[in-house]
Amino acid sequence: MSKTYTFMDLFNVLPKTNCGRCNVLTCLAFSLLVFKGEKRLKECPFISQDIIERFEGKIDTNKTFEQNLSKIVEQFKAKICNIDLSMAAEKVGGDYEDGKLTIRVLGKPLSIDSQGRIFTDIHMHPWVLYPILSYILNCKGAPLSGIWVPFRELKGGKKWNPLFEQRCLKPLKNLADIHTDLLKDIIDIFSGQEIESYHNSDISLVMYPLPKIPILLSYWKAEEGQQSHINLFFDSNVEENLNIEALYALCNGLVMMFEKIVQRIVLL
Ligand code: SF4
Repeated sequence: MSKTYTFMDLFNVLPKTNCGRCNVLTCLAFSLLVFKGEKRLKECPFISQDIIERFEGKIDTNKTFEQNLSKIVEQFKAKICNIDLSMAAEKVGGDYEDGKLTIRVLGKPLSIDSQGRIFTDIHMHPWVLYPILSYILNCKGAPLSGIWVPFRELKGGKKWNPLFEQRCLKPLKNLADIHTDLLKDIIDIFSGQEIESYHNSDISLVMYPLPKIPILLSYWKAEEGQQSHINLFFDSNVEENLNIEALYALCNGLVMMFEKIVQRIVLL
């Protein structure tokens, strides 16, 4: 039987330079699109004919992007071993002490050492760990602009927006509709701060999942003849510090985490 290739096999043959020549912002996003059949491997100009022929028609689509996130996390941890954590600390808005870089994730400390070992009390799963590691590896330390924009208006947001709406906004709206105060309390526990009403929303909360990645949650309650509405807004400079797919993964991870906490509290 001829060999089939997984998402990771595919990702591993790409140069991982995120050059954008394939009209996709990053190699990871490109491999995801090839995997889903929306792009052809030959659209990356750096792949040899030999590799294209080897992969053509032999991609195992049974493994999803999510299933492979854990493997990507392991690769990122390995990359952490090759960077100067004390220099990274300045860019990511963290501290460096005793060989460990410490950042605040939703206000709670998370440390990482030069062997990629993580120290934190926060429950970590790949959807959250992947963007955290991506942030540490790639954050440029760009200052915040103070201008809020919705996800779809970010540079790379258009392509990911359907997934973002489906996987992040929809479940978040369900939570807010049913457990409005509980959601507010949970965000409060994670150092979220209520701010002045944004665009006349009933709830406007700013949280910091990562030091230079603030997220503004705005929720408009249902009114006569009008359904409730929720949106997340990001600093217009966010992509300098976290690429779009990691930002999507971060939002997805946060929503999954909030859902789990609500479930646990409701079942008590
Ligand atoms: S063309 Fe696309 S897949 Fe190839 S290296 Fe550049 S970003 Fe990565």
